[in-house]
Amino acid sequence: MSSTVPDLATLHALGAAQQPTYPDQAAVDANVARLRTMPPLVFAGECDDLKAKMAAVARGEAFLLQGGDCAETFAEVTADNVRNKLRVLLQMAVILTYAGSVPVVKLGRLAGQYAKPRSSDMETRGGVTLPAYRGDAVNGFDFTPESRIPNPTRLLDVYNASAATLNLVRAFVTGGYADLRQVHTWNTDFVRTSAAGQRYETLAGEIDKALSFMKAIGADPEELKRVDFHSSHEALLLEYEHAMTRIDSRTELPYNVSGHFVWIGERTRQLDGAHVEYFRHIQNPIGCKLGPSATADDALALAERLNPDNEPGRLTFITRFGAGKIRDGLPNLVEKVTAAGVQVAWVCDPMHGNTFESSTGYKTRRFDDVIDEVQGFFDVHRALGTWPGGVLVEMTGDDVTECIGGGEEIDEAGLAHRYESVVDPRLNRVQSLELAFLVAEMLRN
Ligand code: PEP
Ligand code: MN
Repeated sequence: MSSTVPDLATLHALGAAQQPTYPDQAAVDANVARLRTMPPLVFAGECDDLKAKMAAVARGEAFLLQGGDCAETFAEVTADNVRNKLRVLLQMAVILTYAGSVPVVKLGRLAGQYAKPRSSDMETRGGVTLPAYRGDAVNGFDFTPESRIPNPTRLLDVYNASAATLNLVRAFVTGGYADLRQVHTWNTDFVRTSAAGQRYETLAGEIDKALSFMKAIGADPEELKRVDFHSSHEALLLEYEHAMTRIDSRTELPYNVSGHFVWIGERTRQLDGAHVEYFRHIQNPIGCKLGPSATADDALALAERLNPDNEPGRLTFITRFGAGKIRDGLPNLVEKVTAAGVQVAWVCDPMHGNTFESSTGYKTRRFDDVIDEVQGFFDVHRALGTWPGGVLVEMTGDDVTECIGGGEEIDEAGLAHRYESVVDPRLNRVQSLELAFLVAEMLRN
């Protein structure tokens, strides 16, 4: 693998998809230059650790839980928001580990998830047409002409917001909050109000008993006190990702140091495109989305370009077919990739193939469709003897009403109650735990 990342002009010459058109190139250059001087947010060695964990996923020895907002926002970089999200991820991971009896690799979709690809460049509301919102990394969500102009100072804001988020996450996961003996504490304020919370409480009680037993026999392993937790985002904006790419002093190879794991979206996975070209050179563990239009040959060609040495843990295919298509579409892909001896982890994104607009005008998903897609993913892999390696979910730690269904039976009218997502609908806290329990059952079967 070549160790030199092509410069930005070379990448743009490949016709990079989904990039903002900035009004002032000098301002872009100044912000990129400043970003290049900023300290790394993650270390190359941490990316290698995660790659080793992803290799275990690819081998069928661990399960990936990847979750967070569709789009983070600067306004939501608060202690409460980060803690709530992390808490639900820790709860989901405990459910999967204990009820599913499998090691869980924990990956936040956070501390960098600020840029969004859009299906349309423009957005029309009430007869007014403006540039689409492309995430806080690019422009403002407010529907005014000023706010929608791409502003490159936001690239530095992404760095600062990511640093603040990651700093807090690191403190939480190593500083006692993630200690397994806190397994009950994560559930307070919640248990009385929901069936999923009560079910979790029962499971936490069982874990407590196991921990007391271990203590009684004199075992107090360090592993109980902290968790390994990594960050991920879609590496979409070339300016930001390129500026955050550094040569690792140990290996003299380039790493993206803005997140441990980065992925290529469904709209930017063109084989000869700028994103694949950029990703080819970085050493991080990476993902690539595969939607229903992806053929087995596309997958094989992407694997050949992105992981020519067939390094285990390097490449994850994140499939997002939709509940109605996965059982027909996925088998051929998995079969051919497996037959070619290509090493990948297979992860299911059960969100993006199941999005629709409610009669009340909200972008939403049905909880049942999400579960059905995960079940289809498991069915396909079980039938082929391959490993259903994990799930990527859009979720939040708050009690929002963005997805339909689940134990709280949110309906179309109920979406208006607390719909806060700026892009795609997220599972709320109850729905996230319900999903974890259902996936744990699939893992056991
Ligand atoms: C996403 O993960 O938010 C996303 C845009 O997904 P995809 O690239 O699969 O459409
Ligand atoms: Mn999304």
